[in-house]
Amino acid sequence: MRIVDIRERAIGISRYRDPGIPSGGLTTSLVAVVTDVVRGGRPVTGYGFASVGRYAQSGALDMALWDAAAKIARLPLHQFLAGRLGRVATGAPVSVYASGGYPYPDGDLAALAQEIRQFTDLGFTHAKIKIGAQPLDEDRRRIEAAAAALAGPGHLAVDAMNAYGPGQAQAAAEALAPFGLWWFEDLCDPLDFATHGRVAARYPHPIAAGEALFSAAEADLLAQHAGLRRDRDILLFDPVHCYGLPGYLRIIDTLTARGWPRRAFWPHGGQLFSLHLVAALGLGGAEANPLAFHPFHGPPAALPVTDGHVPLPDVPGIGFELHDGARQAFQGL
Ligand code: MG
Repeated sequence: MRIVDIRERAIGISRYRDPGIPSGGLTTSLVAVVTDVVRGGRPVTGYGFASVGRYAQSGALDMALWDAAAKIARLPLHQFLAGRLGRVATGAPVSVYASGGYPYPDGDLAALAQEIRQFTDLGFTHAKIKIGAQPLDEDRRRIEAAAAALAGPGHLAVDAMNAYGPGQAQAAAEALAPFGLWWFEDLCDPLDFATHGRVAARYPHPIAAGEALFSAAEADLLAQHAGLRRDRDILLFDPVHCYGLPGYLRIIDTLTARGWPRRAFWPHGGQLFSLHLVAALGLGGAEANPLAFHPFHGPPAALPVTDGHVPLPDVPGIGFELHDGARQAFQGL
C-alpha cells in the first residue's frame, strides 16, 4: 500500500449545544489520507481529526492512517487494533457518558437541566458538566440541577477545566464532597501535582486527571507525584492529543506497569476513534459529546446509546461514514 495524497484543512467546531453560541475560536484539523488501494472503484481513504476542545494542529495523520489501515484489512478498527496487539476484543457495547454542561450565557440552570434531560432521552445514564467559571454557590446549584435530571449525583461528574488555584481547589473539594459525585475533573493546573496530592488526601470520591498531559513521561510524573489513588481515580489522556495512538499506548504501558488498572482509563475527546480504543484495549469507557463540538458531536444515530452503552461500528475503519456531520466534513476535503 502506498499513500498517494494527503489533504488537510482546519475547520471551526462548536462548544455548546447551540452551534450559534460563539465557541471561543475552537478549531480542529481534518486530514484525509488517500491510498493506492482501490475498493469498489474508489481509492481507500483514511480520515482523521485532531480531537476536540483545543485548536487545529494541521497534523492529525495518526487517526487517518489507522482508519485507512483498518479499511484495507476490511475490519472495524477495534478488531484490527486488538489483532495487532494480540488482544481479544469482545465487540461488546462500550460504556459512555454524555459530556457538555458549559455555563449558558442566559437562563443557565433551566438550560442546563434541559440539556441533561436530552442526554437521558438519548440513552445516557451518566453526564459531565463544567464548573469553576463562577462562584461555588452557583456551581452547587448547577450540580443540584444536573443531578436532579439524572439518577443522582453519583451519576454526575464535574470538570473544573483547570480553573482553581491551590486554595480554591481545596475549598471546592470540601464543597463538593457531600454530593458524592461520580468524579471531580481537572481540579487545578495539570502540572500542579502538589495540589492534586493535597486534595486527593482529603477528598474521598474519585478525581480525574491527565487530559492536558501528553507524554508518557508526564503521565509517569502524575502517577508518582499527584497522590492519585489506583482504586478509584480516573485517567483522561486524549489518544489524539498524546501524539497519536503509539503515544497513548506508551502511556497505558507506563501506568499499568505502576499498577493502574485499565478500567481507570476514560479517554478524553468524545469521538468514534476512542470507542474503538476502549474496546480493543479493555479500558473503562469513553466520553461522548452528544450535542457539543459540532460537526463531531455524537455518537451517530446509527449507534444508539442504550442504558449508558453504545454499540461499536461494524464497518471497516473508524466508521466516520456513519456520522452525517463527520462524513460531510471529510467529504469536503
Ligand atoms: Mg476536562
